[in-house]
Amino acid sequence: MARKRSITRGLRFRLTASYALFFAVLLVGMAGLLRARLETLLDNQVRTVLDQEWGAMKGYLRIEKDGPFWYYDSQDPDEAYIVERLRRVYLLADADGKPIQRSTIYQNIGIDSPSDIRERVRLALNSYAPGAAGKTFWMERRTPQGTPYLIRAGIVFDEHHQAPYYVAIGSTLSDNYKIMGEFNWVFWGLIPAALILGSGLGWFMAGRALEPVLAVAQAAQRISGSNLSLRIPTRQANDELDYLILTFNRMIDRLEASFQQIKQFSADVSHELRTPITAIRGQLEVALFTAKTTEQYRDAMVNALQDIDRLSQIVRALLLLSQAESGQLALQKSRVDLSETVRDLVEQFQIPAEAEGVRLRAEVPIAFPAELDRVQIERMITNLLSNAVKFTPEGGEVRVTLQSHSDGAEIIVEDTGRGIPKEYLPHIFDRFYRVPGSGTAPGPDQGLGLGLSFVAWIVKAHHGTIDVESAPGKGTRFTIRLPLEKNEASTGELAAQAIMKEL
Ligand code: ADP
Repeated sequence: MARKRSITRGLRFRLTASYALFFAVLLVGMAGLLRARLETLLDNQVRTVLDQEWGAMKGYLRIEKDGPFWYYDSQDPDEAYIVERLRRVYLLADADGKPIQRSTIYQNIGIDSPSDIRERVRLALNSYAPGAAGKTFWMERRTPQGTPYLIRAGIVFDEHHQAPYYVAIGSTLSDNYKIMGEFNWVFWGLIPAALILGSGLGWFMAGRALEPVLAVAQAAQRISGSNLSLRIPTRQANDELDYLILTFNRMIDRLEASFQQIKQFSADVSHELRTPITAIRGQLEVALFTAKTTEQYRDAMVNALQDIDRLSQIVRALLLLSQAESGQLALQKSRVDLSETVRDLVEQFQIPAEAEGVRLRAEVPIAFPAELDRVQIERMITNLLSNAVKFTPEGGEVRVTLQSHSDGAEIIVEDTGRGIPKEYLPHIFDRFYRVPGSGTAPGPDQGLGLGLSFVAWIVKAHHGTIDVESAPGKGTRFTIRLPLEKNEASTGELAAQAIMKEL
């Protein structure tokens, strides 16, 4: 069972948390921006209204010698209303700061101090220029009850345009505050709700997205050495997870194949070892229970020894092969004349070939220098040659050709022997594989089925390739291509152009 992990360390939690955080920052940022925008918009609106009212006020208010007068048609309800509105928040003071007229509301929000008024009048006069907008002062004030007002103040002149007067009009900001308050409520209430909802949704979505990952993990847990045939079904969504599943399945394919190979190998090894051991046991039992004469004992011992020889041959070969395949057997490369090597080996095989009634010949250039592991290359050619001679009937022919190839050397070992049926070709490089019905009866003469495994390893270790073509009853041809370094290949090519020598 999987250990229970802390929820806060899970991918689902982290996904949801980062999603919620992002969402929160986005919402708060947007709300802040919107709030600031709304605030300036509302503020501007009030200022525009006040600017208009200021203009209207100048039209109605006349400051004469006897005092200020509001000129309007009191019979006209619209005009009366406008003037009444203008005077709701209103202060008129002389340039010294002495209030002349003021509304109750203005009284409530606090009349500007005479020093402030004097200062403002001075500032306004300084910047006063005909044709330019007069200097205006903006203030925010509150009544003791807390009602907010925006005040616009500035100077106006008397009817003779001589003495400046200080005028302030205002408008309530409570509507704006109310709107902003509502906005705040809606937003600060809505944001947590949206966050909770969004996080819930994020948690759900992350859970759904991670579900297949959990399924993959669970399926992977079920797969063990004994049930490697299990595969995780893809969801047919063609997405990253399907790709992960496919990759995982492919990895299991490869693992299964290697497991199968190992299983097969140990089964083969035990089988191969059992045969000579059973034979030895048989020989010794016969000697023990039935042999009477020294001659009979000797025969049994000789047979037992032959089987022991085969046994140690198998063990030696296996050891070497496993060393080779696990990379412990490093190549000992040196400069070799491949032509000479092939010629020597073919010469060595002449006697056994003649004994079998097989014609053996080589087609090699005069010289073919190359950087190779001599011992392994000899082992490779020996294995191929011995097979070719072994599986070619009397009157047949075996030919070894060495020539240069685009990227190195090409060695061809071909025979006119019995060939290998197509269905067995893919297996001939497997360990212990012998083509069924090879003819050779089990016993000391039978091959170990390891020769071609060695050949395959040696070719691979030299980064080469091996191809086999075979026609049953007609013959077999093994083509090996070994890549060589540039200068070696070119010398090989030069040499290959020299006269071919037939042995
Ligand atoms: P063995 O030691 O039995 O020869 P190999 O691994 O060298 O094992 O070869 C595997 C099998 O491939 C042989 O048993 C034989 O049946 C087949 N084989 C190899 N070379 C030839 C060939 N030149 N002609 C026909 N069959 C061959």
